[in-house]
Amino acid sequence: MKAITVLGSTGSIGRQTLEVATWRGYRIVGLVGGRDARTLLDQARRFRPPLICCHPETAAAVRPHLPVGTHLVTGVEGSHEVATMEADRVVAAIPGFAGLAPTRAALAAGRHVALATKEVMVVAGPLIWEVAKESGGQITPVDSEHSALFQCLQGEDPAAVDALVLTASGGPFREGPDDLSSVTPEQALRHPTWSMGPKVTIDSATLFNKGLEVLEAHFLFGTDLARIEVVIHPQSLIHGLVRFVDGNIKAQVGPHDMRLPIQVAIEHPERPATPLAPLPLSGVWEFQEPDQKRFPCLDLGYRAGRSGGLAPTYLNAADEVAVAAFLSGKVPFTAIPEILEQVLDRCPQTRLSWDTLELADLEARAEAERYTLRR
Ligand code: MG
Repeated sequence: MKAITVLGSTGSIGRQTLEVATWRGYRIVGLVGGRDARTLLDQARRFRPPLICCHPETAAAVRPHLPVGTHLVTGVEGSHEVATMEADRVVAAIPGFAGLAPTRAALAAGRHVALATKEVMVVAGPLIWEVAKESGGQITPVDSEHSALFQCLQGEDPAAVDALVLTASGGPFREGPDDLSSVTPEQALRHPTWSMGPKVTIDSATLFNKGLEVLEAHFLFGTDLARIEVVIHPQSLIHGLVRFVDGNIKAQVGPHDMRLPIQVAIEHPERPATPLAPLPLSGVWEFQEPDQKRFPCLDLGYRAGRSGGLAPTYLNAADEVAVAAFLSGKVPFTAIPEILEQVLDRCPQTRLSWDTLELADLEARAEAERYTLRR
């Protein structure tokens, strides 16, 4: 039975990974949670991992209630300790830039990473591949669109690929209103098809999530940005398509349930059964062009990718700040692309390296905070 480590176990992907673990009977060797002491303790009691990690400020609430045989570590060093443990798969699901360091540590230790944290590829793709190459570490994608593309590309000659096509649901504002300046966080958090964490749900409402996913595909599969396309597919049943030079298109179809791509990322190339209901093939399946005017965040992803270097890092950091400001009511929904564009304009032409990356993230956050306050 596979031994699994989960980084970000208390978040949406982490919790769904543990559901897959329950039906597959995985042995959980390590969990990294954040500040949600109750969920982390519930998980520790259920799965009895030898090692868990939480935020230092949460440790006092966790330590007295640890099950026998489970050891607690904290902070960045603690998360590295868990990430590098002996395991068959490390599911990397800590959202945002914070997920980069433990994922890097797992890969450097030669682990096979099931990667849910798209920001890892977006901000550090070339560096991450260098680490994996050196250590023999492997990466399989969890993000549903990339899982789809990964599956469609199996056994295919990369030279025969004409384009990768990512589908997007279009989010809660696909059909309106035309003016998005007064939409509320509650409205933006109401995603029509997927159940996800708050950051990625807002990113789906702005289509920024698809901008990030274009960059993720670019770095994950080594495909030129000019050959990565986005199409709106409101039913979220086709997750990705590969068009080949001979005109054939391969698509991956499946229920919009993240437990399926999680299991694929852990089990590939095997396909064990799941308890998920078979997908009915009736009903309307439509495709539309994305509305670039109402959702400028998608194009900002392409723009950052064409600039290269630290631009994706700047864009990602600005979005983490802008989305938090929108969720706390400090700025309107339409300020998000404005903040991203302003911060992206300030990105220096510095080479991407592990040293420049961390500083660039901090600088971009500070820029974004300044624009947020000025509004
Ligand atoms: Mg996705």
